[in-house]
This record gives sequence, structure tokens and C-alpha cells, in this order.
Amino acid sequence: MSSLLDKSIKPEDEILDSSLRPKNWADYVGQEKIKENIQIILTAAKQRGQSPDHLLLYGNSGLGKTTLAQLVALEMGKKIRITSGPAIERAGDLAAILTNLQEGDVLFLDEIHRMHKTIEEYIYPAMEDYKLNLILGKGPMARTMELKLPRFTLIGATTRPGLLSTPLRNRFGGTFQLNFYKPEDIEKIIQRSAKLLQIQIHPEAVKVIAQRSRFTPRVANRLLKRVRDFAQVKNQGIVTLDIAQHALGSLEVDHMGLEPGDIKILLALIEKFDGGPVGLQSLAASALEEEDTILDMYEPYLMQLGFIERTPKGRVASKLAYSHLKIKYTKTGNFI
Ligand code: ADP
Repeated sequence: MSSLLDKSIKPEDEILDSSLRPKNWADYVGQEKIKENIQIILTAAKQRGQSPDHLLLYGNSGLGKTTLAQLVALEMGKKIRITSGPAIERAGDLAAILTNLQEGDVLFLDEIHRMHKTIEEYIYPAMEDYKLNLILGKGPMARTMELKLPRFTLIGATTRPGLLSTPLRNRFGGTFQLNFYKPEDIEKIIQRSAKLLQIQIHPEAVKVIAQRSRFTPRVANRLLKRVRDFAQVKNQGIVTLDIAQHALGSLEVDHMGLEPGDIKILLALIEKFDGGPVGLQSLAASALEEEDTILDMYEPYLMQLGFIERTPKGRVASKLAYSHLKIKYTKTGNFI
């Protein structure tokens, strides 16, 4: 089943993401500390006439990593080239990307934790000395060729910083963690998007969409768009509280933003493993989900809500999760 959390469900979602992407710092809501720190790095680099240090951004999908990288390029007056770890399969792919950059450009490398290990070796000298040492040929006839690269800024993005090797992590001059957004920031984002998409929306409807957006801008924008479709068919395009609630209900997004995928995981944890502790592998198998999907898409929000806790013995469902699902909590003698 597709989820509102997927990076791109359909091409139209990709178009939506890019059409609503803030094009200046003022429109980039929240994450104040990160914005401030990055702006200092950029100003200092400009004053020195250099390109900024390589930056590593980590945080869940949809929290604004790509958008930040684009703002960095914009601020520096340079181009951005966007690619991802798994997309670079051979050293030749990397060479093609790097040699096509202009002096000072930004290279955005999404899902950097999924970069092939062999490519990682080539990235180090590229990051440090703006050189690429390619090996031509095989066996005794092999020789190396050194390519000089333009100075560039690598912005790596990841949902799983723990999977990066230490040498790679150490080569970034700044590392920033993007957090979940405050509800009032999500409301601002919805209001801005509604204006850009020319949607008439009541303030109470903004609130209810924000409450169900998993504190995540991408989810907020996607919910807004689906609510708009509903309003167009049922209410001449005007998004009232009633319409928003109806639309969200028919999308199976509950009042705390949980989707059927989240519920499935919680139910597996509670019904099949008596609330845990259970290892990720067993949980994934019984919920019929990929381990990575649980780790990247569902679990961070469930942990943020305090529904799931990670213990050394495995995942445990909290009392809050039982109460959300209206299941009686019978563990250790605590009854609701
Ligand atoms: P990530 O790269 O972390 O997956 P993106 O940068 O692609 O996330 O952001 C997803 C969408 O959410 C963007 O299209 C943008 O419209 C919106 N968005 C993200 N962060 C913000 C923000 N701070 N302010 C306003 N909109 C945002």
C-alpha cells in the first residue's frame, strides 16, 4: 500500500513537492537554529571567497533536507546537482557527475548511507582535495589517472546517520539534525501552500490538517492537496473543518496522523507479541513490512508520540499505544 510518507508516490507528488518548495530563507519555516548556523557558514565562506564546507543533513524524510540544500545553492548564487547514493553505481558515474560541476556548485547526495562502499573510496579525495583518482584497465596493465575537479560543496542527506562510516562522517565540516516541526510551524506551511495553490481554507481546517501531518511538511502538503480534491468535488473547492475531517477520514488518517501502516505495526506488536519486547526482524515479518520501511517511515513518528519505545531487548508498545487503539493494557498489573 502506498503511504503519504513515501518520497514520491506519483510524479504529481514530485511536482507538488517542487512547486511548493520555499525559494528563500523567509519561507523556510522553523528549524531556526539550523538556518542560523548554515547562514553563518555561508556568509563566512562568501567573505573568504571560498565555497562552503561540505554539510551533512540528517532527519526523517520530508523534513526539508533537499529544500535546505537548494537554499544553500541559491544563497551562494550557484547551481545544484541532485543525485542519490544508490544512483551512483560505478566510479565512472561519479566522475561524470563531478567533472560536470562548475566551480562552487552544490552536489546534493540524498540517501548517502546507501552509497556503494567502492564509491566511498573515491569520494574522500574528491571531498578533501578536489581530485578523483580513477583506475583505468585491470590487472598488471592498470594505471591510475588523476582528474582535477572544480571546488564544490557536497551536501549529504540521510535518514540513518548511524550507517555512515566514521571516515565519511568526519569529512563533513558541519552536521545538522532536522527535527519534527512544531504544530504552529506546520500550520504556517499549510497556510503558505494553500495560498500558492489558491485554495480557500478555513483556519480550523488548517489546524486539523496540521494535527494529522506527523509534524512533517511533506505530509502536510500532501494532505492539503487531497483535502482540496475532496473540497472541489463536494464543496465548490472551499475547505471547511467539516470537509477536512471528512476527507482525512476517507484517507484513513486518524486524529493523530496515524495511517493504516502505523496501525498494522502497533497491532502486530500488541496482539502477536503481547506488546513486546520484540526484535525488529520478527516485528517486520509479522506486520508484513520491510524492516527499512518500519525504521525510516513509521517508527520515528510512533516513537515521537511515545507509542513505541526501543529497549535493549526490542520494541515495546507503551500504554499510550494501547489506549489509542482502545485495547486494554494488561501488562504488569497496570489497567487503564
Ligand atoms: P527531504 O529532502 O528532507 O525529504 P524536502 O526538502 O523534499 O524534504 O521537503 C518536502 C516538502 O516539504 C518540500 O516540497 C517543501 O514544500 C516542504 N518543506 C520542507 N521543509 C519546509 C520548511 N521548513 N518550510 C516550508 N516548507 C517546507
